[in-house]
Amino acid sequence: MDFQPDAGLDAFREEVRAFLREHLPRDLAGKPVGSVRSMRADLVRWQKILNRHGWGAPYWAQKNGGTGWTVMQRLVFDEACIAAGAPTQDGFAQKLLGPVLNEFASPQQQAEHVPFILNGERLWCQGFSEPGSGSDLASLRTRAQREGDHYVVNGQKIWTSYAHESDWIFLLVRTDTEVKKQAGISFLLVDMNTPGITVRPIRSIDDCHHLNETFFDNVRVPVANRIGAEGDGWKITKFLLNNEHASAADLPILRRYLMQLRTLATTQRAGASPLIAQPAFALRFARLEAEVSAVAMMVERVAAMEQDHSPAAHAMGSMLKVRGTELQQRISEFMVEALGDYGAVAYPEPHDACLDAPLPCEDVARGMANEMFFRRASTIYGGTSEVQRGIIARMLFQL
Ligand SMILES: Cc1cc2nc3c(=O)[nH]c(=O)nc-3n(C[C@H](O)[C@H](O)[C@H](O)COP(=O)(O)OP(=O)(O)OC[C@H]3O[C@@H](n4cnc5c(N)ncnc54)[C@H](O)[C@@H]3O)c2cc1C
Repeated sequence: MDFQPDAGLDAFREEVRAFLREHLPRDLAGKPVGSVRSMRADLVRWQKILNRHGWGAPYWAQKNGGTGWTVMQRLVFDEACIAAGAPTQDGFAQKLLGPVLNEFASPQQQAEHVPFILNGERLWCQGFSEPGSGSDLASLRTRAQREGDHYVVNGQKIWTSYAHESDWIFLLVRTDTEVKKQAGISFLLVDMNTPGITVRPIRSIDDCHHLNETFFDNVRVPVANRIGAEGDGWKITKFLLNNEHASAADLPILRRYLMQLRTLATTQRAGASPLIAQPAFALRFARLEAEVSAVAMMVERVAAMEQDHSPAAHAMGSMLKVRGTELQQRISEFMVEALGDYGAVAYPEPHDACLDAPLPCEDVARGMANEMFFRRASTIYGGTSEVQRGIIARMLFQL
């Protein structure tokens, strides 16, 4: 691995930036960007623009309708989009379900779903976690009983992000209670409009609604909606969770935070001088900047390992997840502090809210408190830091 500048990658970065300058509508770029999925209308409009350009699936191979980009190209694309304030894509469809469909689904299932993912018309949510089954996912209890050519699904999922604005859900269910717990799980695709599904909101600490409880009460799901064979759910889940290690740190978000912090450093004042003139602020800022650079170098290493299908990429991805999410929390907290009194202003919803009077540093301040609160969850979702540390320890000590 060498860290010399890569001319090909620099040219690609310029290509993406030029595309964004030309094709990203100004009204779409003006929204706060952070951890939360963009509003449905914005996401769909942007997805269609990307798809028209052949960039509808940046993470997929060309043979599956994707761009065929390398891991580093994908990171460059993500970073340029976040820096430009572009809407998010549907990460559940793009990064989690898409690779599963490409690998395990039948041609009919692919034909039924892939075009709608590419053109943004079918948004997805992930129905894995249950009360009591989060880290220990294999203990899940939502039951799917076969009745002819349907499964009848009963049970509850929790923390289902965006279930309230998704069209379909990919769901882990227990189809066999007699075998080892991992062997009794199957993977179903379920239309959220099917009778018997109830979605109940969970308001989170950032005072927003992206989380839900999702209840299944005698929900009839065609057997044809099962991916893989009955009992293949755990194998498919391991495949799904084993993707995209290099993006575990969310480096584009860290870099965007640093950009925002730079703006604050020179525009916010402490007394008569800008914040950056305060030695304590400058020291903390420099330290965070150095830590993000260290994460960036590690991301490049992991991207290279991932490109080579190295098995160690998995544990390295866990290291990135721990470092990246802890940094997200520290930088977003620092920004709220740096905003002084204005840091306390939490918007009711980061997507669309505005105050009567603009804040100083409006672009940075808007939604920042919500963002900081939301980031409390980053060391939980996608596998908690404790679980990640367990994976790292098992690799280091070959347990
Ligand atoms: C904002 C947010 C969005 C989410 N979105 C989704 C979603 O869309 N779909 C979905 O299915 N799920 C989602 N989740 C759920 C998420 O995957 C789980 O919260 C996570 O896996 C942890 O599970 P748990 O909450 O049940 O905690 P538990 O597994 O009960 O853990 C409780 C505590 O015990 C610790 N612990 C557990 N096992 C171990 C171990 N082996 N070693 C050491 N410590 C351990 C944990 O680290 C934690 O501190 C989301 C969660 C959050 C916070």
